[in-house]
Parts: sequence; structure tokens; C-alpha cells
Amino acid sequence: MNRPTAFQKGHKKVGGFHKGSKHTEASKQVLRDKASKRRAEMLGNWKGGGLPWNKLQALDRDNYTCQICGLNDREVMEVDHIVPKAKAPELFNSLENLMTLCANCHRRKTNRDVAELNRLRAQKYA
Ligand SMILES: [Zn+2]
Repeated sequence: MNRPTAFQKGHKKVGGFHKGSKHTEASKQVLRDKASKRRAEMLGNWKGGGLPWNKLQALDRDNYTCQICGLNDREVMEVDHIVPKAKAPELFNSLENLMTLCANCHRRKTNRDVAELNRLRAQKYA
């Protein structure tokens, strides 16, 4: 013989447990959002963690946009020294001497800088 009252009693208890629990579907979603936000922040911190503040300031000033080709993708942005460190060490940490470049333009510019420096060096010792 079935005892529907007992079942109802048990069901009620489960309902009460859910009511008292903090992990409703909505609050789980909040936790998930918090976790992914924290992960994004950690990733952001990790990516920017190795950069000195003035490089971060240059990226922010240039709005994470390549100053040569105009690409806007913070994943590939790097900070270039407009005047190479070898030519103007006193400008090395100056924000005015920093500009945001994408990896491609940065590599091209660095190659040019190195070629120019080699040329200057060659002239100096000619
Ligand atoms: Zn570029």
C-alpha cells in the first residue's frame, strides 16, 4: 500500500533544503560569472604583469592600436621604443618615446632600426 503522505513529506523536505541552499541555479550562474571574470583578470594581469607601467600607459594612450598599420587587437600589441635604446638610453623609460605597434610592424621597425644602427656603426668605424 502506497503512503503518499510520506512521499509528500520527503518531497517537502527536499524543497526546504533547496530553499535553504545558496546554490540555486541563479547563484551558480553568478559564481560562474565571477570565476570567469577572475580568470580573465588573472590572464590580463599575467599578460601585462611583465610590462612596466610606462609600457602599459603607452598601450592605453594608443588605445591598443598599432601606430603604423592601425590594427586594433590588444592580443598582438607590443610597445616599441621610437628612438632605439642604443641611440638614446636617456629616453628609454620616457612615455613620449614609446609607441604601440603590432607584432608585425614592430618586427619590421626593429629590423630597420638595427640596420640603421649597423650603418651608423659602420660609418663611425670607417
Ligand atoms: Zn601594425
